[in-house]
Amino acid sequence: MIQHGSDQPAFNAAAFAQSLAKEQGFALCGIASADASQYAGQLKAWLAEGKHGAMQYLADHADIRTDPGRLVEGAASVIVVADAYHPQTPGPEPQAPTPAGRVAKYAWGDDYHKVLKKRLHKACNALEAEYPGHTYRATTDTAPIFERELATRAGLGWTGKHTLMIHPRFGSYFLLGTIVTTLPMQTSELAGFPAPLSPPTDHCGSCSRCIDACPTDAIASEGYSVDARRCISYLTLEHRGSIDEQYHEPMGDWLAGCDICQDVCPHNRRRADLAAQDADPLQVHARYTPHNYAGGFDLLKVLNWAAEDRQQAFIGSALKRVKLDMMQRNALIAAGNALAQQDDPVLREKVIELAQADNQRELVRETANKVCERLGFLP
Ligand code: SF4
Ligand code: SF4
Repeated sequence: MIQHGSDQPAFNAAAFAQSLAKEQGFALCGIASADASQYAGQLKAWLAEGKHGAMQYLADHADIRTDPGRLVEGAASVIVVADAYHPQTPGPEPQAPTPAGRVAKYAWGDDYHKVLKKRLHKACNALEAEYPGHTYRATTDTAPIFERELATRAGLGWTGKHTLMIHPRFGSYFLLGTIVTTLPMQTSELAGFPAPLSPPTDHCGSCSRCIDACPTDAIASEGYSVDARRCISYLTLEHRGSIDEQYHEPMGDWLAGCDICQDVCPHNRRRADLAAQDADPLQVHARYTPHNYAGGFDLLKVLNWAAEDRQQAFIGSALKRVKLDMMQRNALIAAGNALAQQDDPVLREKVIELAQADNQRELVRETANKVCERLGFLP
């Protein structure tokens, strides 16, 4: 046991919080100070350049996001936890008889918001019982807070050039959650979690694999900044309008999200290799067990979906925020890319039908027309 500093009650509180995190099965847990962000200026500049796209909520709460004290009055500490998800690449073989569109790994299992939040609330209740009179607020991508910076501050890893947190041994396939509290805590190495990195060292060095591999050039040439407007994750999951043709071909077969910058990162290789041999060093929560679409959605099926088919497919999934017309827009782009490689008469006919259908939603018809135009399907 290593004690950092000499504030025994704060040290004990941190150890207690970490034992709760262990009990709840989190892969990583660390304690960060609730000081204001060091990156408020960078966030402002990023927002001013419009790189958040249509994610207006990022701009609306920028001042709260950069100061946990504005989220929880009197905040002293932030407990940062991380759930590991499945690192294997490629995923299970698609069951689809026709071309399939890929889904990012984080969404293969149950909705992480729910999986994380329930356990964070249990930890909050236990903290409240042990240390009454303090405020505890759990967040899982659900409140304006810089989870990644806090994770770094808590010693869980460093922020890579692709802007995601990377643990030096276990890589970046993590989902983050926090508890912001007025309870003072001091970092500890108890409870069997990997030792916090203090200070977290950047191990990207001269590597530029993620920057080079990003098909839409969304990552700045020197790294550490992503233009969301160009990122396939944003385009497929957040952007509600039509997708500029310049991104259609680079989007490849991604239907929902994109894993490329993480898949090429050398820091993810070790865990992925071990997991492929059934020796994953991290325990993945049972609720992240891949759904049957983990290998991809059959594009023809998605193009034939009615509202209830989408609803059925996304039960319990983080993808449920992706509307039907967005999914079909994405499927049309992926179908166009598949058809550019190899003809599939049934899929081709479906794309043409959607381009000509008067009763289709505008986004679907417009995207189908763009795809047909690109591939010369219409006279
Ligand atoms: S998720 Fe995909 S598109 Fe977005 S930055 Fe990473 S590689 Fe580029
Ligand atoms: S691929 Fe290379 S540059 Fe990108 S995050 Fe990983 S180590 Fe850093």
